[in-house]
Amino acid sequence: MSAMSNSTIFTAPDTYIGIYNELSKYNVHLNIFERLWASWYAYMQNDVLATGIMSFVMHETVYFGRSLPWIIIGRIPYFHKYKIQGQKIPTVAEQWACAKLVLLSHFSVELPQIWLFHPLAKACGMDTGVPFPAWTTIAFQIAVFFVLEDAWHYWMHRAMHWGPLYKNIHKIHHQYSAPFGLAAEYASPIETMVLGFGTVFSPIIWALVTGNLHILTMYLWITCRLFQAIDAHSGYEFPWSLHHFLPFWAGAEHHDVHHEKFVGNYASSFRWWDYVMDTESGPEAAKRRREKKEKREAKKAQ
Ligand SMILES: [Zn+2]
Ligand SMILES: [Zn+2]
Repeated sequence: MSAMSNSTIFTAPDTYIGIYNELSKYNVHLNIFERLWASWYAYMQNDVLATGIMSFVMHETVYFGRSLPWIIIGRIPYFHKYKIQGQKIPTVAEQWACAKLVLLSHFSVELPQIWLFHPLAKACGMDTGVPFPAWTTIAFQIAVFFVLEDAWHYWMHRAMHWGPLYKNIHKIHHQYSAPFGLAAEYASPIETMVLGFGTVFSPIIWALVTGNLHILTMYLWITCRLFQAIDAHSGYEFPWSLHHFLPFWAGAEHHDVHHEKFVGNYASSFRWWDYVMDTESGPEAAKRRREKKEKREAKKAQ
């Protein structure tokens, strides 16, 4: 439960800093992030706008902020040896064309949706006040959302590779057979909506079932999911990439093959769905499949 409602805090000063200082005097138990958060809602005097602006700015900052290091890495020859698809380095012009379409879709499709987020979150019983939940609660819930989103993504993405859906919707995302960070959200608005469902509705279902979710956890989850999606499209595989330490983590190696071969590796974050459903892509999986078939045939011949 929140200790106080964000909008009902006294608002004598009218600058953000003024509110922050005033609020800090009476709320010594809150940490700096909680004070900044509560001051923002008090300053805005409009929770829908406060949440809407905060989530949109967060999305843009994380999306372009996380893509930037990949753009820089692409210009540094030292890193070329880690590029999965050899020398297919995207040009600046290509990346700019991609960024323009992504921005257009953010402003036309995602902005209005983000605006609806506060009423939706409130209707589902999400907490927007202070203090924040414990970091262990946040981490556990984000882990659950990763698992749920991955399952949704696997089946919806697999469905999008069915002829008519591919031709009319998913083809746009496959324009780049050698992906790069910025291309993560390069997709038809319909695809953004359908796949975005898994990201947005996993927490919403969680909130409805458990009645225990803070909107901050939702933001941190979306940040993690953006990192995952951008890194999966980065086109780079390093000896220190996460899947070397967490073998079930998908990462760039997994999704790059999907863009190159167009079949298999449909999941977003983990490898288990493709493994269990036998839809793994790439030469290793093909070899395993061939060996399995040979074994079966040898058995039959006996
Ligand atoms: Zn695909
Ligand atoms: Zn992709």
